[in-house]
Amino acid sequence: MLTALEQQDPKVAKLIKEEKLRQDGAIRLIPSENYVSEAVMNATGSCLTNKYAEGYPGKRYYEGQQITDQIETLAIDRAKKVFSADHVNVQPYSGSVANMAAYMAICQPGDTIMGLALPEGGHLTHGWKVSATGKVFNSVQYKVNDDTGMFDYDEIADLAKKHKPKVIISGATAYPREIDFKAFKEIADSVGAYLVSDIAHIAGLVAGGVHMSPVPYADIVSTTTHKTLRGPRGGMLMCKEELATAIDKSVFPGMQGGPHMHTISGIAVAMAEAATADFADYAQQIVKNAKRLAEKLMEYGFDLVSGGTDNHLILINMINKGIKGKKMSKALDMANIVSNCNTVPNDPASPFNPSGVRIGTPAITTRGMKEEQMDVIARFFDEIANNIDDAQVIEKVGKEVNELCSAFPLPERFVNFDN
Ligand SMILES: *Cc1c(COP(=O)(O)O)cnc(C)c1O
Repeated sequence: MLTALEQQDPKVAKLIKEEKLRQDGAIRLIPSENYVSEAVMNATGSCLTNKYAEGYPGKRYYEGQQITDQIETLAIDRAKKVFSADHVNVQPYSGSVANMAAYMAICQPGDTIMGLALPEGGHLTHGWKVSATGKVFNSVQYKVNDDTGMFDYDEIADLAKKHKPKVIISGATAYPREIDFKAFKEIADSVGAYLVSDIAHIAGLVAGGVHMSPVPYADIVSTTTHKTLRGPRGGMLMCKEELATAIDKSVFPGMQGGPHMHTISGIAVAMAEAATADFADYAQQIVKNAKRLAEKLMEYGFDLVSGGTDNHLILINMINKGIKGKKMSKALDMANIVSNCNTVPNDPASPFNPSGVRIGTPAITTRGMKEEQMDVIARFFDEIANNIDDAQVIEKVGKEVNELCSAFPLPERFVNFDN
């Protein structure tokens, strides 16, 4: 039986099938990517895509909200439980919009915000100059410590004292170490700033109890829903009751129009998954896998920023191997290992051809890979780095990658609701 898509639009159907094969046949190490369950896919690809629901449950601008109100309330209640949050908004279209909505809830244009610089591991939306967040606000950027590659909380406190920001942002997109949200809150309090914690990358680790939660400390917590949290592409904001109205108004009508109800139904499903014991096991295994992979890569002489990892992410500085980040990530991709090139702290190279490669373990952990497979993957990295210009060796590794992947087919269900 052909699906409607296959009948009506074979071109797109074929491309989607090819993308599925690519995802299944590759070792996906991009730390922001994952595989969602069939249940999340079903919810996301449902008739909810047809519904407008501007407003919030019980206060909508369009009629016909008998079902949508229940779905959004379910997503909110489940998310509140997973993160022990007082208030949750599940409407942000994605992490970037969630961040802008967070700042706009507590700042005026021109106010000072302070976040981690992009080349040091921060996100564009933490005030980087090409982002609207770096244009609308007066942005001050902190760095990681030159020697350790980690946050130096005294340095950050000094910078905060100097610039007196209205908002301090704690969170990162390429930081391999645990973030001390309590320390950030103390810094924010010392200068009377709000603390916004962006856990886009680590939300699944927080939900699974393997990373400190910012919820007790931060004024606002922002996240994506599609990275380690393993839900549909979307965003969420969490806050204490005092800021609930400001946050809701800032998302709608401040930043957005109608919420994507199909995504919100997928978030509801993902939040039920995130509350299971299986999800906590998955979160633990992500970190175990990352630590093992880091250890093995170092044994092969790879230079890791900060000397290892506490979370799901590893940043490899390729300078000592004499290979540029992009050259390495391209060679890996030829061998069906998908990563991204990345700046390293204090990168001497240009951001368009940076010195690092960023990898992470969320997607391969979802597939069921464990420490043993991390040893194999580290060996692939070594073989590729040692034969960076040898297409034959790279092709041979690519075949081994396909074999490894076929031994780890994706289950339809990742979590057990009976436990
Ligand atoms: C991914 C990410 C975002 C942005 O999320 P999008 O959904 O891509 O807009 C924001 N902050 C951090 C820290 C991220 O890693």
